[in-house]
Amino acid sequence: MNILKLIQNGSKSLKIKNIQSHVVDSEIIASFVLNCSREDIIVNNQKNVNFEKISFFNKLIKRRQKYEPISYILNRKEFWSKDFEIDKSTLIPRPETEMMVDGIIKFLKKKRFSFLDVGTGSACILASILSENINSFGVGIDISSKAIKVARKNILKFNLQNRSKLFNRSYENFYGYKFDLVVSNPPYIKSIDIKNLSKDIRNYEPKLALDGGKDGLDVIKKVIYKSRSTLKKNGLLAIEIGNGQHKKVSRLLKLLGYKIKLNIKDYRNNVRSILSVLK
Ligand code: GLN
Repeated sequence: MNILKLIQNGSKSLKIKNIQSHVVDSEIIASFVLNCSREDIIVNNQKNVNFEKISFFNKLIKRRQKYEPISYILNRKEFWSKDFEIDKSTLIPRPETEMMVDGIIKFLKKKRFSFLDVGTGSACILASILSENINSFGVGIDISSKAIKVARKNILKFNLQNRSKLFNRSYENFYGYKFDLVVSNPPYIKSIDIKNLSKDIRNYEPKLALDGGKDGLDVIKKVIYKSRSTLKKNGLLAIEIGNGQHKKVSRLLKLLGYKIKLNIKDYRNNVRSILSVLK
């Protein structure tokens, strides 16, 4: 069977499962299995594929048919132009988180600073800030020991181990340091809304990284409270929030002595992260 036929078969199998991105997904899986770029497989689509590769391809297509996200099938996701290793113990890094990283980098410019990433997951935020600012030092914490393992792999992969530390610890149990910046993309989905998420998220992404309790604000609140003792005076708190949480979170920030500096919106014009300074 040639590459073209392989991709067509894969695409068909995904289409019957109503997967909108069936062509692209099949191409991505083929390029992963054949270990070459998507452009290469399109140019060389008449080449034959051996039996072993075909059966590996079919295995991965079957996983996608069950709505497993491509990023978990491939164990990787691009974030801030870097190829992060991920697995089911970590959230798949999202574009709105990149927008928060962008805001932080512009806000802090090239200053030397220390920072803490609460709920670091794959370390996508930690590694992106570290690589963008070579004068920075960062700590990542996560309550999931499995996520910390993934974070460690990424930190080593990007050779950032000399300017970072990782701890398998909750924020409550984290003392002894003060930072110029605390950043977090905490779980912020209301528990009751988890069941309404699309299948690929609901069945595959870690609940621990998604579920923000009754009103979705449990962890956001904890991060805001606790950061009063982890941030230096005039330190920056950057927090990602869910859709519709902007008013409540801004009110809490102001009440607790933070001054809001920047609201960052997503492509749909919703405020999805807030940068504020502790006074
Ligand atoms: N910091 C990671 C991310 O932004 C994980 C966040 C989380 O698990 N809630 O993708």
